[in-house]
Amino acid sequence: MISDSREHLVVIGNGMAGMRTVEELLKLVPGRFRITVFGAEPHVNYNRIMLSGVLAGDKTVEEIVINSREWYAQNDIALITGDAVTRIDRGDRMVHSASGLSVHYDRLLVATGSRPVAPPIPGLSLPGVCAFRDIADVETMLAVSREHRRAVVIGGGLLGLEAAWGLKQRGMKVALVHLMPTLMERQLDAAAGQMLQRDLDGRGIAFFTNGQTEEIVGKHRAEGVTLADGRFVPADLVVLAVGIRPNIDLARNAELEVNRGIVVSDDMRTSDPAIFAVGECVEHRGKVFGLVAPIWDQAKVCAARMAGDENALFVSRDISTSLKITGVDVFSAGALCAASEHDDEITLRDDRRGIYKKIVLRDGRLVGAVLYGDVTDGQWYLQLMRDKEDISALRDRLVFGKALAGASVSAEPDYASMPDDAQICGCNGVCKGTIVSTIQARKLTSLSEVRAHTKASASCGQCTAQVEGLLAFAVGGAVEKRKKTVCECTDAGHDEVRRAILAENLKTMEAVRDRFGWKNPEGCAKCRPALNYYLLCAWPGEYADDAQSRFVNERVHANIQKDGTYSVVPRMWGGLTNPKELRAIADVTEHFNIPTVKVTGGQRIDLLGVKKEDLPGVWKMLNEAGMVSGHAYAKGLRTVKTCVGSEWCRFGTQDSTGLGVKLEKLTWGSWTPHKTKMAVSGCPRNCAEATIKDMGVVCVEAGYDLVVGGNGGVDVRVTDKLVQVKTEEEVLEYAAAFMQLYREEAHYLERTAPWIGRVGVTYVKQRLVEDEPGRKALQARFLRSQEAAQVDPWNERVKGAQAHEFQRLPELART
Ligand SMILES: Cc1cc2nc3c(=O)[nH]c(=O)nc-3n(C[C@H](O)[C@H](O)[C@H](O)COP(=O)(O)OP(=O)(O)OC[C@H]3O[C@@H](n4cnc5c(N)ncnc54)[C@H](O)[C@@H]3O)c2cc1C
Ligand code: SF4
Repeated sequence: MISDSREHLVVIGNGMAGMRTVEELLKLVPGRFRITVFGAEPHVNYNRIMLSGVLAGDKTVEEIVINSREWYAQNDIALITGDAVTRIDRGDRMVHSASGLSVHYDRLLVATGSRPVAPPIPGLSLPGVCAFRDIADVETMLAVSREHRRAVVIGGGLLGLEAAWGLKQRGMKVALVHLMPTLMERQLDAAAGQMLQRDLDGRGIAFFTNGQTEEIVGKHRAEGVTLADGRFVPADLVVLAVGIRPNIDLARNAELEVNRGIVVSDDMRTSDPAIFAVGECVEHRGKVFGLVAPIWDQAKVCAARMAGDENALFVSRDISTSLKITGVDVFSAGALCAASEHDDEITLRDDRRGIYKKIVLRDGRLVGAVLYGDVTDGQWYLQLMRDKEDISALRDRLVFGKALAGASVSAEPDYASMPDDAQICGCNGVCKGTIVSTIQARKLTSLSEVRAHTKASASCGQCTAQVEGLLAFAVGGAVEKRKKTVCECTDAGHDEVRRAILAENLKTMEAVRDRFGWKNPEGCAKCRPALNYYLLCAWPGEYADDAQSRFVNERVHANIQKDGTYSVVPRMWGGLTNPKELRAIADVTEHFNIPTVKVTGGQRIDLLGVKKEDLPGVWKMLNEAGMVSGHAYAKGLRTVKTCVGSEWCRFGTQDSTGLGVKLEKLTWGSWTPHKTKMAVSGCPRNCAEATIKDMGVVCVEAGYDLVVGGNGGVDVRVTDKLVQVKTEEEVLEYAAAFMQLYREEAHYLERTAPWIGRVGVTYVKQRLVEDEPGRKALQARFLRSQEAAQVDPWNERVKGAQAHEFQRLPELART
């Protein structure tokens, strides 16, 4: 056996803090230590923060791995996973593990994180009850969400809310029980907490605030939660997110000094000089930690000390909190409220836009900020707090944000004077110095390259604007800071283009491109379809559709398949058909030798394998039997799926098929930012799957539940409830108004699910439910646009329109 004379560093805890310390150490003194890492979990180390993304379906477990097994091997680190250290023997400098391993250390790093707090209530051990801490918990939640519908999350802090949102995204009915009157009370004041609750309530999460959980009930598995005031909330899954506590048992048993956490000095040493500790398990100057930003600083200091730097000191700094829920922007740092009458609180509140800003000032300095709805200035406020700058001169304008605060503060962060250790990416602990030096050393020019090489902005994405700013700074301004523009041809965003089209009467693509100084005067494959759609929507009947600005499927009014043939789907109103139509389908199939006939998911008949040059002939025969295009290719209404409803079904309360036909006759032919699908179910059994459609109608005893924003694709999204109405006329009015709102305000290629995710269903309700005149005006605009749009494209082509599209190319014709 070859002996290894290097000092042996043993790390207990393969989590974020422990491994970050090892990474820093490898940078400083590669190869100096022999390293062994023990992890109680069976996995390599991963980005715990992004578990929320895995739960919500935005990331996979593979995507959140920080260091793979190959990385450990390449760096000569012995990794022991799925084996917890059970005892530290300080006398012999040994650690002992659950599987019976005993390992000698010269230096020990304890990074055991924290444990979820479990409230002292009966029922905690029932199947279907879990915490939200690690991959195993997420796997439990996902498994239950596949089989069951109802979840209760206990705890309305950051973790609880992210768990609730993730489960909602997975299609569960979610209730959240919170002990306090408002959400995230440690990070938000009451006003912001209430706005947050209102927004999430609008997204379908039910809240039980002031709710003290008494018991989790269930015979063989969790069935619900009882609250102290007698309320009962049914549940198949109960997630506990009521807090964390430093994991200090090992240290306590080894007689290290512990208090709330393992006590460490500024050099991250414990009471035993050979033992260091970092992360959530430590207590530093009376403080414990629950976010990664200070932990990255601890890791740096700890590694520097192990490498021999006697000057490295850990200083706890102000940190900020945010919430990783798409479309919910929250920021807070420092004091939430005035501590005495000497402090000033300045607030700005715009309920209609869902914006709230509060800053707290003390002795002419900023000591706290709470932002809701618009968090663009969060990092700037944080920097002002850290710099302890006197901001008296800006006092009156400060709450309006950086751009309006005045000349003495530039609109851009001052990247030149920003210290190198200023943290930019909280999720991955990447600071300015690392980003700038990597960009310069590797000559990086794009955000994706910076992400790949530094990990900055590669997780939750909240720091993207800053990383882009740094990129521009590092390459001397040659890279423009990029906002989300229509395409690479312009600096203009979708919304500003749409606004200008209406406000400035722009009626051609050229006019729009001129107005915004398009870099490519002809536009590109991305912006041409978008502008074509925006103009079509703004000027119905006036703007002439540009076929060349459409994708091939839309140009040829059929879906191109993988072998280059097309599929043809005739419209069957509400999913109904008759012998004449079926006969025509049979005839056309035989006549043109169409190889496959299939029923689609939208209850229509799909003729697959049609040659391009046969398309007009196929359409002609179908047209003669009274059938029109089903727009199966269109960024427009596809189908209205129905069940048999009260006419045939024992359970149906209304005529869902008849209503589906009416809805389809109302909305067919409309052009929308992306494809849209509808469905009508005759009762809550929901055989038409209305709750995963862009708009669904579920008939109930009292009328019709209207639900919106569903998606059955890769990212399944269950609809949000819009409103309940009593009559079919109201259903049709709402459907038209909903379609028009989506047509007028979504970005091109944005389906209703991400659109509603972005603007929030509360906003859609404000426009459609709370504003009746507004709804009627939207309906009227929709009906007006339909007068121009409801033209059967097949019929036009049969009569010869764009015949060149369907002619065989000469060389193909010879074969
Ligand atoms: C779902 C979720 C979302 C979060 N979101 C954010 C966020 O947005 N922003 C933010 O700043 N922070 C967030 N956090 C907190 C952040 O993840 C933690 O602060 C960070 O992971 C703490 O790092 P740590 O190394 O101290 O602990 P951990 O990452 O928990 O690592 C500790 C490791 O030690 C192992 N271990 C424990 N005891 C032993 C033993 N005896 N032997 C061997 N191994 C052992 C554990 O299994 C664990 O893997 C989030 C946390 C969760 C759970
Ligand atoms: S949704 Fe209701 S009415 Fe419609 S078929 Fe199913 S059970 Fe019958």
